[in-house]
Amino acid sequence: MFMASELRAWRNRSPGDLSIELPEIRATPIEPLLANAAGAARSWAHTPLPKRVEGLRSAQTELLKAKDGLARGIAVEIGKPITEAIGEMSAVIGKIDLTIEDARAHFAAQEVTNGPHPASIRRLARGPAVVIAPFNFPLHLGNGAIVAHLLAGNPVIFKPSPFAAVVAAQYAQIIAAALPSGVFQLAQGGGGEGQALCLDSRVRAVCFTGSVPVGRSLAQSLAADFAKELALELGGRNGAIVCADADLALAAEAVAEGACLTCGQRCNATSRVLVDRRVAPEFEELLIAAVGKFQPGDPLLPETNLGPLISAAAVARYEQLAAARADWLIPGSAPKEAGGKRGHYVCPALRRGLTAHDAECFVPIVEIESFANLDESLIRHNASPFGLTASIFTRSAETFQRLVDELPVGNVYANIATTFSPSTLPFGGLGLSGNGRPGGRDFIRFTTVEQALQIRRDSLT
Ligand code: NAD
Repeated sequence: MFMASELRAWRNRSPGDLSIELPEIRATPIEPLLANAAGAARSWAHTPLPKRVEGLRSAQTELLKAKDGLARGIAVEIGKPITEAIGEMSAVIGKIDLTIEDARAHFAAQEVTNGPHPASIRRLARGPAVVIAPFNFPLHLGNGAIVAHLLAGNPVIFKPSPFAAVVAAQYAQIIAAALPSGVFQLAQGGGGEGQALCLDSRVRAVCFTGSVPVGRSLAQSLAADFAKELALELGGRNGAIVCADADLALAAEAVAEGACLTCGQRCNATSRVLVDRRVAPEFEELLIAAVGKFQPGDPLLPETNLGPLISAAAVARYEQLAAARADWLIPGSAPKEAGGKRGHYVCPALRRGLTAHDAECFVPIVEIESFANLDESLIRHNASPFGLTASIFTRSAETFQRLVDELPVGNVYANIATTFSPSTLPFGGLGLSGNGRPGGRDFIRFTTVEQALQIRRDSLT
């Protein structure tokens, strides 16, 4: 595992084929990046929006050309199945269009006519922004915040996960080439570089997507700099509630998909299932069959639906969870090999009984428990301090409404997997899952500060 210490140089191995060693990466000295970003801030802030849009459009054209290579890079470096990696790249490219739309709306002149003086509200760039990304969506999650900050006039320093350093460098080269010098820069490194960037006083906005402990420590360290915007996208312990009237086959397929995409390494992965006890035996049978369809395979093959975990440490965590004495419906196993390739491969596992609600799972292990009535399902579901996504499986609009009114989570689905999060909607969580829902649509609202102008009538010529 990469710890929160300075990484000078390292080489990643493909988690799906440990014989593949990627090119060496060196940590970037951060002081020059900070100086460049501070130096570029004024002129980028004064660059008109259409000009910034032009830069992003030209980056988008190049990303489109590089799409297949970048998707393959994601699959090789973090082990995400290629079909999912292509989906990630489509989201990266599509996000540019959506964010341009958001920026045009956000920057539209806003006149205020009901006050004592004619007035208007302007949106000012904040200044240099740091975007810190996790390994599991190495480009898409950082890209959303990057594009929004750039359109807002904020120079960006992007610190990707060290697990995705090579593919992040390819992406960064494309973005940087489309923009003036110093406006977009890449910082390679680990937690040490990330922390130093976030805490530097020249940085006026931070978007951090990653784990709760790091998010919390950043929030504590930055508390005194209250004008620095800190947007946090953290973890989840997402649940599915399966009611007695649900389409059980559909629910089983959606839960299996929610648990197994990206090998369970998604903030919105399904890791807890609550099922009405009247249908629990039938649902368990269906879920065992649905989960069984996800078997480890080479992430580069289009038919693979379950890639490897990211690291040996993640496999060790999986093995520890799978070794717990419990009522296992599908016991865990870590073959550490698939299709003749050695890698961090594990199989999905399913057990009865919900365990720690306050710790992320982040491996493909699903826990299932039955409930006697809807009130009980809510008590169990809401025992988690996370509040990212939740799925309700029912045919009744009334039941859906009854449950949704009591779920303190950012994204709720009816008869859809917890992992289904299109860029057209806001995304993010309540509670331990983060603040203000900076993911998904409309990140642009974090990127500027408002300035109110009042002008005495007829006082200016
Ligand atoms: P992580 O917290 O270990 O690392 C995330 C990033 O933070 C990396 O780039 C890392 O180098 C950097 N970092 C580490 N210590 C730091 C510090 N002290 N200061 C600044 N930066 C630091 O997370 P990970 O293992 O890469 O990713 C998985 C986590 O990300 C999970 O908790 C997952 O739920 C979360 N996540 C959340 C969302 C969301 O949208 N809510 C999406 C994807 C992943």
